[in-house]
Amino acid sequence: MINLPNLRFNVVLAPYSTYQIGGKADCFFVASTKEELIKAVREAREKSIRYFVLGAGANVLFSDKGYRGLVIKNEARGIQFYNDRVTAESGVMISNLIEEAKNRNLSGLEHFAGIPSTVGGTLWQNLHFLSPDRTETIFIGDILKSSEIMDENGNIQNVNKDFFNFNYDYSILHDRNLLVTEATFNLARRDKELIKNQIEENLKWRNEKQPQLDQFPSCGSVFKKINGIGAGRLIERVGLKGYTIGGAKISEKHANYIVNTGGATAQDVLSLIKIIQDKVETETGHKLQPEVGVVGEI
Ligand SMILES: Cc1cc2nc3c(=O)[nH]c(=O)nc-3n(C[C@H](O)[C@H](O)[C@H](O)COP(=O)(O)OP(=O)(O)OC[C@H]3O[C@@H](n4cnc5c(N)ncnc54)[C@H](O)[C@@H]3O)c2cc1C
Repeated sequence: MINLPNLRFNVVLAPYSTYQIGGKADCFFVASTKEELIKAVREAREKSIRYFVLGAGANVLFSDKGYRGLVIKNEARGIQFYNDRVTAESGVMISNLIEEAKNRNLSGLEHFAGIPSTVGGTLWQNLHFLSPDRTETIFIGDILKSSEIMDENGNIQNVNKDFFNFNYDYSILHDRNLLVTEATFNLARRDKELIKNQIEENLKWRNEKQPQLDQFPSCGSVFKKINGIGAGRLIERVGLKGYTIGGAKISEKHANYIVNTGGATAQDVLSLIKIIQDKVETETGHKLQPEVGVVGEI
């Protein structure tokens, strides 16, 4: 038996993913503090229970059959500022951190405005967005100073940013069974108004170019970037924009987004992913790799 307070059973996962898709998890635990998060992971490991640490659910597709094991929803949300640095627990939403930093005239995080993510998720993904002049990509790994993690043996360690081997859509978290418990970012002093303007510009840009979650649940870009060629442009080139299976549709606004138009199943999304991969490879020779992680039984 899992020894965690307020453990819930047979919990539908759809509301915990930005896709609004997914069957039931056998067990579901909300960790409200860093200590609870660590305890839950230790408990699952000790009892050899399969577990999944869930942040904002913005880069996962839960399967229709759900998850046989324990989903640990990370809501550890402590934030501490010290001079020009901020240390945040891994369940802090990046949107909250951006707001808190802006209110203290601290810059560096505003480039990621409008992206749904917890701090833990940002390090998994090496969160990225375009620079203000839109000529380069800015990565969150570049402003990471250090992070507290729990390793495979349950040891808590402080590691620096090099530990993560950050790359595009990649960090070491993809290859090792590590838990991020908190992260410290280096920020820079900047006028609050300038930070606010940057946030607004980024939100406007996103609103113009990408389907918005309140109308079109999605996981953001489905496929990884291919250097020099946008995955979205390849999908558009093979004529798949707007193509629909069940409730899942290749967005008219941004072809690298598959949106849930209402009632989509994970199977609808996976079928679209397969059709896109096959058609793009046959017609252009490019192999598209999904960025989104499929979680649960297929
Ligand atoms: C509308 C939309 C727009 C997006 N735009 C962008 C964008 O511009 N740039 C970009 O980079 N991404 C973008 N994304 C993708 C997504 O926001 C990121 O991948 C984000 O970092 C996911 O964070 P999360 O907290 O939701 O992680 P989840 O989706 O909950 O989890 C993702 C993975 O991280 C692991 N994980 C989460 N927390 C921890 C932790 N504490 N320790 C160890 N592992 C952990 C999970 O186990 C899982 O494997 C977008 C997504 C959406 C829906």
